[in-house]
This record gives sequence, structure tokens and C-alpha cells, in this order.
Amino acid sequence: DEVVLSVRDLQTWFDTPAGTVRAVDGLSFDIRARRTLGIVGESGSGKSVTSLSVMRLLDPPGRIAGGEILFRGQDLATLSEAEMCRLRGQALCLVFQDPMTALNPVYRVGRQVSEAILAHTDISARAARKRVIELFRMVGIPDPERRVDEFPHNLSGGMRQRVTIAMAMANRPDLLILDEPTTALDVTIQAQILDLVKGLTDTTVLLITHDIGVVQEMCDEVIVMYGGRVMEHGPVRAVTGAPRHPYTAGLLASIPSAAQRGQRLNAIAGSVPSPLAMPPGCPFAPRCPRAMPVCETRPAAVEVAPGHRVACWLEEGAQA
Ligand code: SF4
Ligand code: MG
Repeated sequence: DEVVLSVRDLQTWFDTPAGTVRAVDGLSFDIRARRTLGIVGESGSGKSVTSLSVMRLLDPPGRIAGGEILFRGQDLATLSEAEMCRLRGQALCLVFQDPMTALNPVYRVGRQVSEAILAHTDISARAARKRVIELFRMVGIPDPERRVDEFPHNLSGGMRQRVTIAMAMANRPDLLILDEPTTALDVTIQAQILDLVKGLTDTTVLLITHDIGVVQEMCDEVIVMYGGRVMEHGPVRAVTGAPRHPYTAGLLASIPSAAQRGQRLNAIAGSVPSPLAMPPGCPFAPRCPRAMPVCETRPAAVEVAPGHRVACWLEEGAQA
């Protein structure tokens, strides 16, 4: 399948009075059509900054300081804002954690989705409304003929997220980016929304999450990020079945079992260092149970199997 998005050595930096923060520092990946790539990490890992970089929605002082974001061969990093506007909401769509950031509280939800269609397609308002009802049915909104006339506040959080997914799917995007799409929802609703996304088999998805359990369930390929850098990257089965990087192992050990939902019994000790005080070597070193003196210098990524790369001194060949 063809590559839809190819990110090459992305650098996204924030210039702050206290210094430059490399929120994303050297990220590369390809997403092929109809595949789902997950980016997982704790908050501050750079995963949301990655989705905002691809969408070109970074707020200053955030900026793309280097690298390429090739979307169907066009470098999004250098497109004009007008050209980006044409892509957003059409070829390239982003769904956030909180559906209310995407919905306008004063308009009926059906109208908001039909406006998303009418902004990019030349069809009648009647045809757009028909398409919205179809979309609502596709995303599992019951009684869609009536629900289109509801206001956002009359819908539950789960229904609102279904509306934003319907809106994102309205123009059949080439790439759907989901940034923590279920984090604000309770466990049962989370599972329903994930099932809905899993059902979008023709859609190419970039899924951002802090939950490696969600990655296991949803993704073909995964990137584990920490401190703006890639710790491990490969096929989901390899990375989560036999993690090579201590951070990946820590994330997997912290998945709560069904009985312990809501608890984090084996959470990785310590916390993500301040972005202004990232260790010079492996960023995970202060929390890593296997850290060694050499970890104070930066390990290079090593390909441990085809398409499976690990940046850790435990791997043979990590010297840059
Ligand atoms: Fe741990 Fe060192 Fe590997 Fe970093 S490079 S994950 S500190 S062993
Ligand atoms: Mg986030």
C-alpha cells in the first residue's frame, strides 16, 4: 500500500525565556494507507506536539525547526496557511480528547457536520443533511434523524465524541489523527469508541495515546516516545509482545488488569523530567531500573529486527 504520511527527522522546538525545549527531537515514521500507527508515551513525551505539528496547529512559541512532513508527497512543514486550511477538515482531520473543543455549543450538531461537508464539497444543503444522517448511523448514533437536531449539551460525552468522529469522517479523510480520543470517557464508552474506530478499516489512522493497552488493541505499528525522542518503534506484536526498551516494558507493566481498572499498581517510579532539564544522554535514565554509566551519553537507534528499532545501551551497536 502507498505511504500516506512520511515524517522525516521532525524537530519541533519551543523557544522559552529559559531556553529551547526540543518537544520532538528527531522523529521519523511512515504510515501506509489503511494502517493504524500508534504513538504512546506519558504526558510530556512529545506525542501531542507531533499531532499538532502534522496539522500545523502549533501555538507560538512552538515551531517546526527541522525535518519534513510529507503528506501524499507534499511537505506540510512548508505549506502556506491557506493551503493547510484546504487540507484540514478534508484530507487531514484531527479528533481531540475533549469533543467540546471541536463542537460549537450554540449550533445543532447536524448543522455543524453538514457545514464541514459544505465547506469542501459542492452539494445541496439537503444532500449534505442526508449525508450527515448516514454518517451518524455509521458512527453508531441511535435515531440519527432526530439526533442531528440536538445541541451538543444534550448529548452524552460518548455521543459527542461520535459526532466529532462523524465530522472528521465527513469528507473521507486520507489521514485521521486521534489524540487521546477516549481519555475523557468512562471505560465502557471508551471500548465502544475504540470499536467504532476499529471499524473504520478503510481509513488511515494516527492514534496518540498514553495507554499502551489501547495500542495493543488498535494499532499495527507503534512508536514509544519519551522526552521528545523515540525509544522503540516497530510492529505492535513485536514491541508489546517482547519489549526491548526498559521504558516500553515499564508502560506494559503499568497496564491495569480488568480487576484493577483505574488503579496503577505498577506505574513507573518517578516522573518525566522537566523539558528544560532533560538528561544529556538517554532521557529515561533517571527512572530506568537498568541505567548504567554509559547511559549518560545518547544511544543511537539500533535495528533489532526488520522494522523494529530500539534506542537503548542494552542493545549491541548503540554507539552513534
Ligand atoms: Fe535504561 Fe540506559 Fe537503556 Fe536508557 S539507555 S533505557 S537508561 S538502559
Ligand atoms: Mg496529549
